[in-house]
Amino acid sequence: MSSPPTAITQPPANGLTDLETIALYIHIPFCHKKCHYCDFNSFAGMMGWRRRYVRALTREIALVGEAARLANGMRRRCRTIFFGGGTPSLLPPADIAAILAATHAAFAVDVAAEVTLEANPATLERGPLPDMRAAGINRLSMGAQSFDADLLRWMGRIHSPEEIISATEAARAAGFDNINLDFIFALPDQTMDQWQSTLDRAVALAPDHLSLYSLIVEPETPLFDWVEAGTVIPASEDCSADMYEYAQARLAGTAYEQYEISNWARPGKACQHNLTYWRNLPYLAVGAGAHASFGGRRFSNAKPLAEYIDGVSAYQPTAATLGLVGGPVVESETISHALEMGQTAMLALRLHEGLDLTLFACRFGVEFADVFGAKITDLRTWGLIEEVIVDGTRRIRLTERGRLVGNEVFERFLPDSADH
Ligand code: SF4
Repeated sequence: MSSPPTAITQPPANGLTDLETIALYIHIPFCHKKCHYCDFNSFAGMMGWRRRYVRALTREIALVGEAARLANGMRRRCRTIFFGGGTPSLLPPADIAAILAATHAAFAVDVAAEVTLEANPATLERGPLPDMRAAGINRLSMGAQSFDADLLRWMGRIHSPEEIISATEAARAAGFDNINLDFIFALPDQTMDQWQSTLDRAVALAPDHLSLYSLIVEPETPLFDWVEAGTVIPASEDCSADMYEYAQARLAGTAYEQYEISNWARPGKACQHNLTYWRNLPYLAVGAGAHASFGGRRFSNAKPLAEYIDGVSAYQPTAATLGLVGGPVVESETISHALEMGQTAMLALRLHEGLDLTLFACRFGVEFADVFGAKITDLRTWGLIEEVIVDGTRRIRLTERGRLVGNEVFERFLPDSADH
């Protein structure tokens, strides 16, 4: 694969100061109907809770913004906002505007902040797109999943292939110039022909970004029960690898650059919010079941709607909780230095840009090779990682071969993994 253009590979010039800023995730847990494979914290038939939920969200955003203020009392800088779900596009634009207003009051949001809304193509028919755009959403991420009508039905999706096209065209007409489409491959009984046709139609629609994920059979889903009962046979690992490699080959030489294991983007359209996760930079998160990573700690909110809403309204900050982000937090843990270094390496290796070795040394006060020496030597000997110079910076990244066995490489950087 050729080197991606500077817009994608260039690490933030302020990589270290990005540790002082945040990305904000906002969870919207409502869906029309649960998809058969979905284990996200999302609920069908709960739209009656919408007003109470949005009220709780705006209060939590204010609480979190207060807790995350800088030592000098200034609001913390927010670089990206991501409405995920669930199906955030089920919210009326007025709710989105109210949540964004609360966010701007609580944080110093960049003027050019990327503001993403996840959407189901079937929910965009009634035309909320211009109002969403006017409310401040500037990136749309649509769960397209497949262009095959039978596979969409099998997954329990509520939209048709035609609605993917009409929603994308409507989004363009509404002024969205940053559109992602998600697709799933390695579905049971999915043929290579079906996958090829889906990719062809996806490329023909010319989105700005593509996310391609293989189907995972998650516990506590109808799909898991079907597999347990033997009525559904999951696709083999070979089939999944073939489809992944086909996608890489199909997209090579197009306008899309693969910047992460599962993500492709036109130049300048890599998802800035998700790059925060892969660069292991701080992020805050609000909403039922949302997870945050901030100040050397991980936080997770209550998942059930009632518990979350009650938790937010009952929460009163005290001296003991000052600086802790959020009220309805049910779990928090301290991230050890060793774990943070391991996770930084592991996540960065998902990216084509890899791990910036200078930035690593500045961030952790120790050279990467001094921490992971034996592991790096082995992985280099096996041809799974390589050291490269990109734009004048020394980097470690996966080789083509390493990308095929990425998970095995990643886990070697976790603190309790054995040196081999
Ligand atoms: S639309 Fe998304 S969040 Fe909702 S059930 Fe389907 S996969 Fe899950």
